[in-house]
This record gives sequence, C-alpha cells and structure tokens, in this order.
Amino acid sequence: MKKHLSFLLILLTFLSSCEGNHKKREPQKVSESKIDKEKQAREKTQNDMQAKIDQYVKVKLITDTNILTDNEKKLIVHLIKAAQYMDPAFWEQTYGDKQSLMQKIKDSLTRIYVEINYGPWDRLDDNKPFVEGIGPKPASANFYPHDMTKEEFEKADLPDKTSQYTILRRDQNGKLFTIPYHLAYKKYLKPASKELLEAAKYADNKQFKQYLQLRAKALLDDNFQPSDMQWMDMKNNHIDIVIGPIENYEDQLYNYKTAYEGVVLVKDMNWSKKLEKFIKFLPELQNNLPVPPEYKQEKSGTRSDLNAYDAVYYAGNANTGGKTIAINLPNDEEVQLKKGTRRLQLKNVMKAKFDRILVPIANMIITHEQRKHIKFDAFFANTMFHEVAHGLGIKKTINGKGMVRTALKEYYSAIEEGKADILGLYMVDQLHKKGELDGDMKDYMTTFMASIFRSIRFGAADAHGVANMIRFNYFKEKGAFTRNLDGTYKVNYDKMYDAMKSLSALLLKLQGDGDYEGVAKLVKEKGIIPEQLKQDLQKLNDAHIPVDIIFDQGIETLGL
Ligand SMILES: [Zn+2]
Repeated sequence: MKKHLSFLLILLTFLSSCEGNHKKREPQKVSESKIDKEKQAREKTQNDMQAKIDQYVKVKLITDTNILTDNEKKLIVHLIKAAQYMDPAFWEQTYGDKQSLMQKIKDSLTRIYVEINYGPWDRLDDNKPFVEGIGPKPASANFYPHDMTKEEFEKADLPDKTSQYTILRRDQNGKLFTIPYHLAYKKYLKPASKELLEAAKYADNKQFKQYLQLRAKALLDDNFQPSDMQWMDMKNNHIDIVIGPIENYEDQLYNYKTAYEGVVLVKDMNWSKKLEKFIKFLPELQNNLPVPPEYKQEKSGTRSDLNAYDAVYYAGNANTGGKTIAINLPNDEEVQLKKGTRRLQLKNVMKAKFDRILVPIANMIITHEQRKHIKFDAFFANTMFHEVAHGLGIKKTINGKGMVRTALKEYYSAIEEGKADILGLYMVDQLHKKGELDGDMKDYMTTFMASIFRSIRFGAADAHGVANMIRFNYFKEKGAFTRNLDGTYKVNYDKMYDAMKSLSALLLKLQGDGDYEGVAKLVKEKGIIPEQLKQDLQKLNDAHIPVDIIFDQGIETLGL
C-alpha cells in the first residue's frame, strides 16, 4: 500500500512539474482556454436557467379596483402586507436560511429561479436540484432534522410530534424535541397578526372583521379551529383572505406538517350569485344521471358553498409550482362535518392560464375551423362544474363493499377525478338545455378537448393525469375526435356527446360496484400516453408554450 502511494506521489510530482513547465512556456494560451471554458460553462448555466424560467409566463394579478370602497382598498393593503410574511415563514419551512443560500449563488438567472421555486429544487421537474453543490430535496423539508430516520421519529416519546403545527429539532445531546409553529416562526407571525388586526379596523362586514380577529389570534397560538368555523359562517363578505399553515404536501415524509401560505381575494358577487343558483339544481341533476336508480340513490351534497373570486396576492406555499385555480377549504374535518366546505374559483387566474396557455395550445393542436369555439366562459364553467360534480354519484358501494374510496384503493383518486371531469361536462349540458347557461354547446366541448392537452402536460403520473389519459383514450376509441394528417385534432360533436354519456355511466358504475379489478383494467389499458400524443405534446414544448404562470403582483401592481 505504502509503496503504491509513494509511486503515485512521484508520478503526481512528475505530472505537475510537466504542467508547470508547460504553463510557464505558454501562460497566455492556457489561461485563455480556461477563461473560455468558464465562459462556456457560465453561458450554459444561463441558457439552462433561461429555459427553466421560460416555462413560466409572468402575468399581472389585478382586479377591478373601481368597485372597491375606500375602506376595502385600505383593508386589502393590510391583507397583502400580512400575506407577505408568509413568504419568509414558508422559506424556513421548506429550505432554511434563504440568505446564506442566495449569497452562494452568483448567476442572476439562477437566483431568479430559486426565488420562483422558494429553494434550489425545481418544482416543475420532480424537485431536482438546479444549483451546484445542492443534493436532492430532503423528504422532511425543514420540518424535521435531515438526519432523522422514520424509526427514530416513531420511537420518540413526544406527544405533539405528529401535530400539523410543530417542527422537530435536536437538543445539544442530539435528542429530538418539538417547537410549536407560533414560537418557531414568531418573527413573521407577530407582524402578520398585527397586519390582520389593522385590516380588521377597515372591515365593514362584521363577520369578516371577526374572522380577521380570530385568525390574527390563531397565528399566535396555533389554534385555528375557531377562525375556520367563523370563515364558514361568513357569507356576504366582498373581501377574503386565506392565511396560515394550511396544506401538508410540503412534508413529503409524513404529510403531517402544514406549510404557510396567503391568498388575498376579492369576491365576484355576480358570478357567486349565479353559482349559488347552480348548486340548487344538484338534486335534479343527480336524478338525471345516465345510470340505473341504485347508482344515484344518495343525496347529493348541496351544502357546499361555491364562489368566484379574483385573487390579488399569492404568498408562501400557494405561490409555488403550478398555481392553484380552485381552492377547497377548510381541511379540518371537524369543521367540515359541522359546516361543510367552501369552494373558491379563482377567475382571474383561470383567465390568465386560459389566455397565455390554453389558447396557444388550441391554436397549435385544434383543427382550424373549430378554434373559434375556444372560449373563456366555457373553460370557467368546465373547471367550476368539475368541482361541483365531485358531489354527484355515490360515496358508498351498492353491493356491500363499503365506501367507494376503500374499495377502489389506490385507483380511487384517478377514477374520482375522471368522474368529476366528465360529469362536469354533463352538468354543463343539462344546465345548457334548461337555458341556465349561455353559449354554444360546441364551445364547451371544444374547450373541454383542448383542456385535456393542457392538463396532460403536467404528466400522467398523478390522479389528474391518469384521469385525463383515460378520457383521451376513451374518446379516441369512440371517435369523439379524430387526428388530422397535419397533426391537429377535430372534435366530432355527436360522437363526443355519446361518449360523454357512456363514460359517465361507466365510471359511476365502476364506483358503485366498488369494482377494483375493472378499474385496474381500465387504468392499465387507458391510463397511458400513446406515442403519437407524446410527439404532439413535444411540439407544444418546442414552440415554448409555457407550462404555468408566475405573478407580477402587489400593492403597486393593483394601484392601491
Ligand atoms: Zn377534482
């Protein structure tokens, strides 16, 4: 061993002296090529980063501020300020020390992409690291010590370790202990809470004022239930805010810990009134479902509350990756049982995705003469009725196999999402026939078809992706669309109409029968992206059609 080492040393000395001589003789050339290489590497990084940033298109997050009262304007300013504190709180939860990370990154484009992702991992690419020297994203994010094993966690005698409002750390002796959120993130929560109280002063709606006060308190003691209850009780407020630790996807280790986010909202009172009316039709629509009576025997959920909003600010977890266009809250099951849930449709964000993503997709992939049927109102209705359609059909199997969710196991989500998609279109058709919805049915169907292409771009891996692929392949089999020789797609409306009905019936029956085998077969056969479609989707990427949006947002953007 020693012999080998000394031989190596001699060899290395020899090599380095060689290089030394070489360097002395041609110093200019060597340093130039070194500079060239560095320059090339820098340019490559910049190109890569620019391509990543270009996956997002920047849109202004605005609303009609002319309809706001002076008090409402002041109120919104304080709500935005409160929401802004969710950014640093979320940074600490997902990564840790933002400043020290940023100091290490010299390339300006990389820094921009880090800001977009709230960390050095690419949320549109399975969280792969894109900063040199950064490893894979820990499943524990920054909620738990990175070296903690699941075994260690399970053994730890800490009563609030699974709480959605605590983080875990190690003491000097390496022993795990918990810190409640309101202490761990006090720096940000105290001023956020103060802003909410300040906002409450301008709230003319009494219920909303009370909600803001309760929420301000909850941020400081982690007891969110009273404010969630109050949030469900208030009905007529024009302004709204979703703020606090809410969704648990960021904790990929256990899904226990919730992430801070803030979304400031202005309710669209006209649309909300229309939606209220649609909810009342649910029992009748349930009755008309194209299945035998036993598959529609349950009462549909009319208790859900459905409203349309303009979002005017996104912060923290809500401002990452693919931006949400619909919110369904609260997550607290006790509140859900007592008060139901509220579905929020974010109309201006939907419009942005429609204009900047769906229309360019349709212009490439839908046959020329049908492009006039791509309409925002149709996109909005389809998306909205998807949410409502979750309340149709049945939750319990008709043959003693228990709940549909339990019977269909890992396929449940994909089938449920697929059901909501197709029944959403079915609801549109029913309401259209009753004269409750305007426009041409061809608008809804063509826009529905184009939306499949938009959704599949996020991949076929998750429940929504599988649902989209099943529908695409089912439609193809039934001749609901055909692919032209030039690679565009043409909807055959009559056949799509029949396919809509038969696919609705198929999915409702699979659910009602709790038919696990049948569902597995359907997913296996139809839940895949055919080669031809892959190539067509690649065309969209080659044309640089963005995948999602980022916001130009804030008090100035709104002109407040
Ligand atoms: Zn859904």
